[in-house]
Amino acid sequence: MQDTTTHPKILLGQFINGEIVVVDGKQQPIINPSTGKISKFVEHANTTTINKALEDAHEAYLSWSKVPPTKRARVLFKFKVLVEENREKLAELIGQEHGKISHDALGEIQRGIENIEYACGAPELLKGDFSKDVGPAIDSWSDFQPLGVVSGITPFNFPAMVPLWMFPIAIACGNSFVLKPSEKVPSASLFMAELLKQAGLPDGVFTVLNGGKEVVDQLIQHKKVKAISFVGSTQIAKYIYQESAKYGKRCQALGGAKNHAILLPDADVDNAVSQLIGAAFGSSGERCMALSVVVAVGDAVANQLINKLKDAMADLKVGEYSNDENHFGPVISKEHKDKINDYIQSAENEGANIIVDGRNVIVKNNEDGHYVGGTLIDNVKTDMLSYQDEIFGPVLQVLRVETMQQAIELINEHKYGNGTCIFTRDGEAARYFTDNIEVGMVGINVPLPVPVSSQSFGGWKSSLFGDLAMYGPDGFRFFTRRKTVTQRWPSSNVRENIKFSMPTL
Ligand code: NAD
Repeated sequence: MQDTTTHPKILLGQFINGEIVVVDGKQQPIINPSTGKISKFVEHANTTTINKALEDAHEAYLSWSKVPPTKRARVLFKFKVLVEENREKLAELIGQEHGKISHDALGEIQRGIENIEYACGAPELLKGDFSKDVGPAIDSWSDFQPLGVVSGITPFNFPAMVPLWMFPIAIACGNSFVLKPSEKVPSASLFMAELLKQAGLPDGVFTVLNGGKEVVDQLIQHKKVKAISFVGSTQIAKYIYQESAKYGKRCQALGGAKNHAILLPDADVDNAVSQLIGAAFGSSGERCMALSVVVAVGDAVANQLINKLKDAMADLKVGEYSNDENHFGPVISKEHKDKINDYIQSAENEGANIIVDGRNVIVKNNEDGHYVGGTLIDNVKTDMLSYQDEIFGPVLQVLRVETMQQAIELINEHKYGNGTCIFTRDGEAARYFTDNIEVGMVGINVPLPVPVSSQSFGGWKSSLFGDLAMYGPDGFRFFTRRKTVTQRWPSSNVRENIKFSMPTL
């Protein structure tokens, strides 16, 4: 039921050519996860709207791509200032639809702002490579040109940050960008569209199309769309990658994760515990970099870990997004809550020990909210379903092994390879781990090793399909194509002989 007692019906549309457009399309309710009640509706874009939006985006690209990078960066710089000035409002929109507590939403926005700052370096980053005198009177250079209309498809769990991984760089490179946000959290994208317009971005350079699979399929198949940047679950990432290849589109598709930490016997366990609590339960564990498994090396350190985690978890506060004292909020939906609870049940059925049980958490006055409390499970084995799958909830599982080598092998055998971390005081062990672990993002006593904006973000194995990672230097490569020019200006009195062999110097 919609909570219409205090608010009239809110219907969100598309952002096309600088305006919000609402046509008579399919409507989907948006649930406030903190209350479990419908708060808004979002309209799915239909085929006519999608085609019109893509034609407009292409028109806009033709002139935007000719704007010098310095001027494009200036627009992004204004946009960055506007996001900073409006960060509280953006955090509120994220809270309403995702359930993220404001301190956490502000953190995601800050990480997003850093991506805008990096994109403002476009004049430097698009400079290209120049080789003078590669032959007699011959110079050669590469420059990096935009692709055209490019699209981003994003998940529910970072309504602002993940779109900001993509579109500032895409736009800085001279492309038009069409964003298809998660239908569960569209407001942050629509609000950022307004801020881009205020910053002076020409109409049509940034578009938001709402909807689900039907919209995504049309974007991939449309001849005007040249590249797809995707972040979401592995099953869909693989599908997007395969479909994009079928239609000849460039694609990067980031998928799910199961991020392990190794706890060595020499680690500072108190420090590891406080790091793990935030990394496992922050954002209700709904982060692709959430630390969801600890592999403890030896029973002595495992027992210490379990006891200290259990004590620390007694203070965890779960509740509505609007109370900044809560540590984390609800999970995204009733279905997702049930799925998380089923994974906990399956671990119990398969013989693991539930040390702290977050099922049956009730938040007073919000009994219909989608809450799961922090959960700690010990003696998990690698053949258990709860270990093999991504749970994407506030559940931390502990496995016990005897050696670091066993821990490394266990992580390397997992299908996901997004993030990992080692807790130790031993530099040699940390170095060995870094060299031999088959995971894309590695932390040494850093539980959430999310790369800063000047690096690039991407996992290995089933966590990323494609060749280039997200944002940073790889972002500039993904959203441009290389053109290499070889130029000769011979003196007017030089005449070349005809040559049939391959030219050499
Ligand atoms: P999801 O895969 O369900 O949805 C992601 C996007 O794909 C949404 O925009 C959705 O509308 C669209 N989509 C859904 N089903 C589709 C289909 N059948 N065909 C085409 N498009 C479809 O993911 P989610 O539940 O929104 O997000 C959570 C997942 O995202 C988790 O698995 C998490 O690990 C992952 N994630 C990964 C990263 C990363 O960087 N690797 C970052 C954030 C989230």
